[in-house]
Amino acid sequence: MANADSGGGGGLDDVPRVIASPALVQSMLDSAQVAKPVVARALGLLGRLREALGIDRFLRMVALLQRHFSLSSKKVVAAGALAAGAAYFASQGNKNRRKHKARRVAVVGSGIAGMGAAWALNRAGVDVVLYEKKPKVGGNAKNMTWDVDGEKVETGLAVLAWPDKMFHNYNCLIEDLGVEKLQHDMKFFVGERDAAGKVTCAFAHGRPGWEPDAAIKEDLRKWDQLYQFVKRVNAFFSPCSVPSMYRVSMLNPLNLIPLRTLCRLYGISDRFWEFVFVPIHTSTFLEIEMDTVPALMAELLNEIVPFTETPNMRTWKTHSYDTLRKMSLELPKDNVRTSCGVESVRYIPRANPEDGFDVKVLDEDDEEHTYDAVIFACSAQAMNRILHGKGQPLPGQPLLPNQANGLNNNTVMSSWKRWFLNGLETTLLSHTLYTTDRDKTFERGTAHTNATAVFPDEFKAEILDEYCNYIEVDARNPRNLENSFVISSWAPTMQAPHLRGKLPMMVTYNADKKLENVETEWVSTSREAHPCLTMKQLASSTTCWPMLQGARNGQTYFCGSAVLPANGHDMSFLSGLVAANELGAPYPFSHDPVATGDFERMRKLMLWFWA
Ligand SMILES: Cc1cc2nc3c(=O)[nH]c(=O)nc-3n(C[C@H](O)[C@H](O)[C@H](O)COP(=O)(O)OP(=O)(O)OC[C@H]3O[C@@H](n4cnc5c(N)ncnc54)[C@H](O)[C@@H]3O)c2cc1C
Repeated sequence: MANADSGGGGGLDDVPRVIASPALVQSMLDSAQVAKPVVARALGLLGRLREALGIDRFLRMVALLQRHFSLSSKKVVAAGALAAGAAYFASQGNKNRRKHKARRVAVVGSGIAGMGAAWALNRAGVDVVLYEKKPKVGGNAKNMTWDVDGEKVETGLAVLAWPDKMFHNYNCLIEDLGVEKLQHDMKFFVGERDAAGKVTCAFAHGRPGWEPDAAIKEDLRKWDQLYQFVKRVNAFFSPCSVPSMYRVSMLNPLNLIPLRTLCRLYGISDRFWEFVFVPIHTSTFLEIEMDTVPALMAELLNEIVPFTETPNMRTWKTHSYDTLRKMSLELPKDNVRTSCGVESVRYIPRANPEDGFDVKVLDEDDEEHTYDAVIFACSAQAMNRILHGKGQPLPGQPLLPNQANGLNNNTVMSSWKRWFLNGLETTLLSHTLYTTDRDKTFERGTAHTNATAVFPDEFKAEILDEYCNYIEVDARNPRNLENSFVISSWAPTMQAPHLRGKLPMMVTYNADKKLENVETEWVSTSREAHPCLTMKQLASSTTCWPMLQGARNGQTYFCGSAVLPANGHDMSFLSGLVAANELGAPYPFSHDPVATGDFERMRKLMLWFWA
């Protein structure tokens, strides 16, 4: 079987062909060379961790992880194959990714990620077309007009606030657009309803005359110790002199330890977890299944919504949608296509393989347009339908002449790499878990004005006056909770003296029975809106997604919450800026060193594979 191509001698006759391929052997040798410094660094860091913890605690931690994940041999082999694939792929990374200076770009999805990408590209003079499936741009940033005694008042309904000290790039955007922001104390109130229907206060921020009982005080003391520990470990693995959400280190063991497990190790009671921690943070996560939140998140959570002091947040003088509206107004009107979802994207190789593809975007109106590049900023399910849906080839299937998703017939790539990337992409896209996939609590939000239906009489007045969230927990089953975002108590547009207190405004989740006979203003279903904050999402966004960024000849990027470790306007926006930057748009806030630092960290997070 030895031939001129294989460059081998007669000794290779009995060796299976794939092993005898000199190109593959060469690639493996290359990848081993690339892997060497990475492995050396990893071992060095492991050594430092062992030193910091001491051998006993280090071994206990390893045993805990092993037991916790009860790793089957199948999973170990799969992880090994992925690591080997990644190492092989890494050895060729720089050779295959091109920075594509695109003249015409399609952006799929107009949430803050897609809008951010389109906005930056448009400012750079790129002809960018923004596709949005819904009638209005903005994604999760929703607003509503209420009738307050005949006066029309606009407020936000979802995406209501942000932590100032963490959202550096979003702050720059707001300033750039001239959007006014305010600060506000956001207090949470947790009520516990017993079997007889009586509600008591389980936890409340800054409630006059109320003190947590001795057990909760003890839990709060332990929580603070846990928080300090997590802060130290995070600082050890990703030192940073300014507060930043983007200090992710793949070697941080707290990526792999669930926060719930760490709470137990610190002796924090189950009661605190179920009746205080989960209810409070459901409002941030929009889910109640929090046992899988990675422990490193404790630092961020405590910075955003601390238990022992009133959370202080920033909000818009109007509402979050206003920012997106202003951004969209900078784009040519015809380039913002609402009620125009994307159905599929095809990649047609150009005459000269060096020029990559014509990217053909087919929309719901059955119109197909050609672009140089595409940025995906929609849900994982939508990306999957568009790239691998009906009419698209499955991984490994032969291509029909009109089928092409770039990973199947990219002439630039070796077949091994095409197979690997296509399989990785379909796996990631079809396994992204959204909060509503595993729990329906936050699937339907109802905007209404009937405070009596959702608040207990004894607390109604103070909730309406002081609190931004009321969470009511069933004492017999704490996971059965209702969550009301109280809009009127703090929404800036409702604080004018003649409006304040005039009309209760709430968005309530999981209280459909109570609201059965109540007149509702608006009902919103949030499917595919919030990916779960799990260790899997953290792992896939930081290790696997970077391999897919720019993989189709540098002509396809992915941004937004579907491909990120967590959710938030700053994170999604920044990911859009990184994608736009790869396609030629300059980073717009280089005058601000702190924001620039976050941009660089996000770039590293999204593109480390190609560095
Ligand atoms: C109820 C709620 C409240 C939140 N509150 C806050 C908050 O207070 N502060 C904060 O920082 N973050 C908040 N978040 C998180 C924040 O909204 C997200 O992190 C961020 O909006 C995600 O933006 P995105 O652009 O990634 O995705 P999205 O906002 O989900 O946008 C995706 C867009 O893609 C569109 N789309 C889907 N399929 C297609 C298709 N085939 N073709 C074209 N378009 C398509 C969708 O219609 C949607 O508009 C909240 C989220 C939710 C759900």
